[in-house]
Amino acid sequence: MTDTDGSRKVTRRALRDLSAGHDVSDTPPAEALAGPLVDSYGRRIRNLRISVTDRCNFRCVYCMPAEGLAWLPRGDILSFEEIARLARVAANIGVEQVRLTGGEPLVRRDVPELVRMLSAIPGLTSLSLTTNGVALPKLARPLAEAGLTRINVSLDSLARDRFAELTRRDALEQVMAGLRALEDCPTIRPIKINAVAMRGFTEAEVLDFAHFARRTGYRVRWIEFMPLDADQIWRAEDILTGGEIRAIIESEFGPLVPVGGGDPSETARRYTFSDGVGEVGFINPVSEPFCAQCDRIRLTAEGQLRTCLFAQVETDLRGPLRSGASDAEIERALREAVWRKELKHYIGDKRFHRTARSMSMIGG
Ligand code: SAM
Repeated sequence: MTDTDGSRKVTRRALRDLSAGHDVSDTPPAEALAGPLVDSYGRRIRNLRISVTDRCNFRCVYCMPAEGLAWLPRGDILSFEEIARLARVAANIGVEQVRLTGGEPLVRRDVPELVRMLSAIPGLTSLSLTTNGVALPKLARPLAEAGLTRINVSLDSLARDRFAELTRRDALEQVMAGLRALEDCPTIRPIKINAVAMRGFTEAEVLDFAHFARRTGYRVRWIEFMPLDADQIWRAEDILTGGEIRAIIESEFGPLVPVGGGDPSETARRYTFSDGVGEVGFINPVSEPFCAQCDRIRLTAEGQLRTCLFAQVETDLRGPLRSGASDAEIERALREAVWRKELKHYIGDKRFHRTARSMSMIGG
C-alpha cells in the first residue's frame, strides 16, 4: 500500500475521490494500522512539527495582531513528558524528523531540556527548531549541547526600521547576535533563514538577502505569504511568488543553478549562484503547491493533531494522554488521524476554507 510513487498514487486517488465529492476516506484498512505511518493517498509521514507554546514575543503583521492573542492557560499546554511520549510513539511508526516551533518556542522555559529528552528517542534522525532568533544569544549553546541538529531563523528584513515595522519589535540587533552565536555551534547546521514574501515589502531587499546568503553561508529561503494571519489581511494579490523573487535575483546575478539531490519531500526549491557561492531557496506553497509530497503532521501546543496547515478538523491527543491511554491506543489515534490527512490545501480554489487558527496558534 505504500506506493513508491506517492505523487502518482495521490493523483489517482484524488481523481476518484474528487469526482465522488470528497477527498478523504474515514476508515483505515487493517494494513494502515500496522507498519509505517501512512495516509489514505499513500503518503508516508516522516515529519512531526511540534508547537511548544502559542505565545510569541513578536507581533509579525502577517501572523499576529498588534495586541497579541488570548494565550492558552498553562495547564492546557502539553508538558515536556507528554510531548516526548507522543514523539516516541510517532518515532516508533516511522516519524524521523521533529521540528519544534510555536508561537516562539524559545519563550517557553527550559526548551533545551525538551530537546535533550527528544534527542534520546531512537529513530529520530533530525531535531530542529524554528525561531525568531531573539533568544539565541543566550540559548544557542544550551540547545546545541542538548542535541539540536538544525535550525530555521525567521528574518524578514535586514534593515532595522523595516524589521521593526514588520515584527512590531525593534529587535534586529538581537537576532543578528543570535545568528553569530549559532556560528559558534557547528553541530547545528545548516543555518536556514526564512523570510515571508509579501508584495510591496519584500522586493526592496531581495538582492540584499542574496548578498547576505553569499557572505554568510546561511541558506536564505523565501516563503510565500499564506492565508494564516490572525488579522485576515491576506489577499491573493499580496503574494509575491518565488518565481518573481528568483527573477529579481537573476536580473543581478544571472541564472541561478538548481541544487539537486535533496530530500524529495523538501519544501524549498534550492539554488546556488553560478560561481557556487551561497544558496537561496523558494518555498512556494501557493504558486507551486507540494501537497502531493507532503510528509508532515503538526501537533499544537495544547495537543491537537493537525494533518494539514489548513485542516478544518483536529484530533485531540491530550485527552487520551491525560486519561491513561496506552501507547497502543495513542498510536491508533495517530494512525486514524493520519489516514484522513487532507489531499491538498485548495488555496486559490473555490473549495478553500480559511482555518480558524493563525500560524502562531498552529505551529508554523
Ligand atoms: N516564532 C517562530 C519563528 O518566528 O520562526 C516560530 C513560529 S512562526 C509562526 C513560523 C514561521 O511561520 C515563521 O517563519 C513565519 O514567518 C511563518 N509565518 C507566519 N505566518 C505566516 C503566513 N501568514 N504566511 C507564511 N508564513 C508565515
